[in-house]
Amino acid sequence: MRLSNSFIKTLRDAPKDETAKSAGFLIRAGYIYKEMAGVYDYLPLGLKVIENIKGIVRDELNKIGGQEVLMAALQNPELWKKTDRWDDQKVDIWFKTELSAGGELGLAPTHEEPITNMLKTYVKSYKDLPLAVYQFQTKFRNELRAKSGIMRTREFIMKDLYSFHTSEEDLDRYYHEVENAYARIYDRLGLGDITFETFASGGVFSKYSHEYQTFIPVGEDTVYYNKDKSVVLNEEVLQDDVLEDLGVKRDELEETRAAEVGNIFKLKFKYSEPLGLKISDENNEIKTVYMGCYGIGISRVMGVIAEKFCDDKGLVWPENIAPFKFYLAPIGENGSKIAEEIYLGNEDKILFDDRALRPGEKFADAELMGIPFRVVISDKTLAENSVEITNRKTGESELVSIEEFKKSI
Ligand code: ATP
Ligand code: MG
Repeated sequence: MRLSNSFIKTLRDAPKDETAKSAGFLIRAGYIYKEMAGVYDYLPLGLKVIENIKGIVRDELNKIGGQEVLMAALQNPELWKKTDRWDDQKVDIWFKTELSAGGELGLAPTHEEPITNMLKTYVKSYKDLPLAVYQFQTKFRNELRAKSGIMRTREFIMKDLYSFHTSEEDLDRYYHEVENAYARIYDRLGLGDITFETFASGGVFSKYSHEYQTFIPVGEDTVYYNKDKSVVLNEEVLQDDVLEDLGVKRDELEETRAAEVGNIFKLKFKYSEPLGLKISDENNEIKTVYMGCYGIGISRVMGVIAEKFCDDKGLVWPENIAPFKFYLAPIGENGSKIAEEIYLGNEDKILFDDRALRPGEKFADAELMGIPFRVVISDKTLAENSVEITNRKTGESELVSIEEFKKSI
């Protein structure tokens, strides 16, 4: 991508009401644009980051048999009335709207109801199961408070996976596969060392659900943990019977802040029963389908990664998340000529700062945007037939021959 062609300009200031460090950098570096509280646009660089995160998640879910779909955001109230979730007075998170022809519609805050209903058309027999279906989709939630930039918004990108089974054992088996897939996902996202499976409330037929909590000060949740016993629990389940279940004492636990980046639930019949998702089994008997659901907050994850990997100068993306691997910053006419040659054919790996700016301005943008490697070509480096490569994370620079650099791209 050529910066001279891009409409993005880095900004000196972030909106005053953005308190999270990462939100300020993401806005200033031109990854996201704030429409209003809790509503953001993803600009070219931000969209690439989202796609990279999705790519990792997709890869791991396909490995456990997930089939990708994209479901509608507009929702039919009738479905949600069957599960008592249309007029949920406790947590009215719906954005509702009206059909011009009359009647109500809702913007999906999640998708258990429509996917369960949709599958009634396709799942009829035990032979059709197990089945796992997922999507990356925009959810709408009328959150009381938007917070921490893209970490809590009213419109956000979620990965939601739903699984369907003939038995509780098979649901348990798949739940475990998802746990393993999630461990690999958070590792690959660079969050593995600070993300933990956490006991939380909200289990439907098991006592608990599991959240994936990333230990980070900007997180909204309070969790308690014991490293030796590998136990992490949300404060919402910090009570005597739970501590007994988990084999820890209150004074063995430490407290920390964390952001919920995903969660997994055994739903059993919670949605399949009221919506009537049934199959005929080996003996031709009609059985209700067992279900599980598994979420990851894709846009929240982007905020969490940005927050973990940044310093006082800006973002510091891990290589596999970064929108581009290299930030090519030529200085002077000769440098520009060689840079053009290098850029050609490598447009997807190089963010090419071909703007007529002072070196200092280019370097500041490279740091703010957090591209892993800054590559400078100037008369000085050309005298050695080389480019100067600076690692954004360590700040270390080295001269690398032009030939070698071309090969490494
Ligand atoms: P929270 O407790 O943070 O409100 P939740 O329990 O409502 O989360 P789910 O409904 O299970 O979350 O959604 C799955 C995932 O989507 C969450 O684990 C989180 O990462 C993400 N998520 C939930 N709400 C938001 C939001 N308002 N903005 C951004 N991401 C969100
Ligand atoms: Mg919520």
